Amino acid sequence: MQLSLQTPPSPIKTLDQVREVALGCVKCPLSQGRTNVVFGMGNPHAKLMFIGEGPGQTEDETGLPFVGRAGQLLTKIIESVGLSRDNDCYIANVVKCRPPGNRVPTDIEMAECSPYLLEQIACIQPKIIVLVGGTALKGVLGISGPISKIRGRWLETPFNAQAMAIFHPSYLLRNAASVEGTPKWLTWLDMQEIKRVYDTL
Ligand code: SF4
Repeated sequence: MQLSLQTPPSPIKTLDQVREVALGCVKCPLSQGRTNVVFGMGNPHAKLMFIGEGPGQTEDETGLPFVGRAGQLLTKIIESVGLSRDNDCYIANVVKCRPPGNRVPTDIEMAECSPYLLEQIACIQPKIIVLVGGTALKGVLGISGPISKIRGRWLETPFNAQAMAIFHPSYLLRNAASVEGTPKWLTWLDMQEIKRVYDTL
């Protein structure tokens, strides 16, 4: 199965139209256990888009992406380079409904949900896509492998945007040390590089 989002997007719908369709979606079994479809949030004209794996419990309850503990850390990571999560970024996930028990979404679930993400990218037209964690990296670019080996370099995409993969903030919560060489320290380096390129756009 081809997992990566290879089709060059074309904005055939507005973001609100895509959201409306997604909010009623029952295309995959994740619809059965959800409280809310977590579509995405942020500036629809942002040059910078963060894409994560899928909603957790707090996200499912609120309908908003990255608002639990990991999300709060992501907000701090964004703010650490002087960017505003709400004004400078758009944030979404590969799957819009919470996998039970926070398991990793299956390839089929990611493939079923991919048209929504593709349309989001087409509408927003970000110049930089930050792939938050290994599942997002696999779901968007079809690249499997540890983030530790892939982070820190720019990746080509079919979306007229360059991408970088970073550690998922939930991983950073479990690895809280921030001295030189740790995942947290490396993420700070990655965000500085992302901001450096962002400032040239
Ligand atoms: S995860 Fe995506 S494809 Fe599955 S039901 Fe939710 S919106 Fe639809």
